[in-house]
Amino acid sequence: MKKPFVNKEQLEKIVAEYATPFYLYDEQGIRENARKVMAAFAWNKGFKEYFAVKATPNPRLLEILLEEGCGADCSSYTELLLADAVGFKESDIMFSSNVTPAEDFRLARKLNVTINLDDFTHIDFLEQVADIPDTISCRYNPGGHFQIENNIMDNPGDAKYGFTKEQMVAGFKKLQAKGVKHFGIHSFLASNTVTNEYYPVLARTLFEFAVYLKQETGIAVEFINLSGGVGIPYRPEQEANDIMVIGEGVRKAFEEVLVPVGMENVAIFSEMGRFMLAPYGALIATAIHEKHIYKEYIGLDACAANLMRPAMYGSYHHITVMGKEEAPHDCIYDITGGLCENNDKFAIDRALPKVDMGDLFFIHDAGAHGFAMGYNYNGKLRSAELLLKSDGQVEMIRRAETPQDYFATLDCTKYFD
Ligand SMILES: *Cc1c(COP(=O)(O)O)cnc(C)c1O
Repeated sequence: MKKPFVNKEQLEKIVAEYATPFYLYDEQGIRENARKVMAAFAWNKGFKEYFAVKATPNPRLLEILLEEGCGADCSSYTELLLADAVGFKESDIMFSSNVTPAEDFRLARKLNVTINLDDFTHIDFLEQVADIPDTISCRYNPGGHFQIENNIMDNPGDAKYGFTKEQMVAGFKKLQAKGVKHFGIHSFLASNTVTNEYYPVLARTLFEFAVYLKQETGIAVEFINLSGGVGIPYRPEQEANDIMVIGEGVRKAFEEVLVPVGMENVAIFSEMGRFMLAPYGALIATAIHEKHIYKEYIGLDACAANLMRPAMYGSYHHITVMGKEEAPHDCIYDITGGLCENNDKFAIDRALPKVDMGDLFFIHDAGAHGFAMGYNYNGKLRSAELLLKSDGQVEMIRRAETPQDYFATLDCTKYFD
């Protein structure tokens, strides 16, 4: 059973003040989970979780993660500006971009953040548009399939990211010749993994690769970045990852591979987004229409422009109709938004209790890659974001867009005089 982090009475109070749709985040859940992550990797002196800003780019939430000891992983110019504004400094920021524009690299160098290069050709590009720093990381793509035992988890050979194995060796030598003193490696090989094995298997691969790089180049990396990909159970029947088991699995690989070759000072980094925030954010919407044609439809005041994962990937997001948790789930509905797009459905053929107009919907696990992927199609406006604070108070951490925001990039003056 997935349980909302608010009850109906609490939510009704919030809705009396803030109109739906809106995103609601749970500060206490965020903090408790972040502390578990720190505890799981406490065995590693240099451990740092660089929260993937793209997952939930809200400064108030970034501030909470900063307070919990996280860094920030940025992938663009504006994400760098945001992380800098919140107070992440220099090596608290990882810049893991790809197809990087010159001005992004210039800003990354100006802020003196740790750059994680996506490609061999970016070495010369970075030197031309800015300069080569003392510390650098390179993103590794081993190609082929990424497997855990006999399960193919993902297909790195088909992914646009990273250096090949040969390029990693050549890149390290080239960077060393250009004066780099401190090296790291990074790899992201599978997304939304719901198994405690992903990080340990990835870690072992990277640890062995670090040993190989040392043999080939004489360079001992100082940090290894396991990146993102640790998933969450979107479906109620899935079993959640246990971060303590994951941390222990990485430790075991560390002890077996790195410690025997004298690399026990290597720092472990992560760049989790989904695992840090997805369960601690929900999209709250109101049922505003019901429709009885060839199927039964419930229409919400939110749409795919607020949460596009179901429309884009066919993703499952669990839904609680507030106050009807215990009622029989004996109605089958498509739950839709109002875009002129038939894929604008939060759920298809979902068994729910009988819905009445005005019912509040709690769409679970939307705290990462939710609001952030929003868009303005059909002139739909982005919603507000609210924070349910640890003390029970609610703080608006982003106001809803207005028509003025939607028109802000146009010069409409000639239509108005
Ligand atoms: C998206 C991304 C992440 C975060 O991924 P999650 O699946 O949200 O953990 C981390 N690092 C990089 C480079 C990414 O692109």
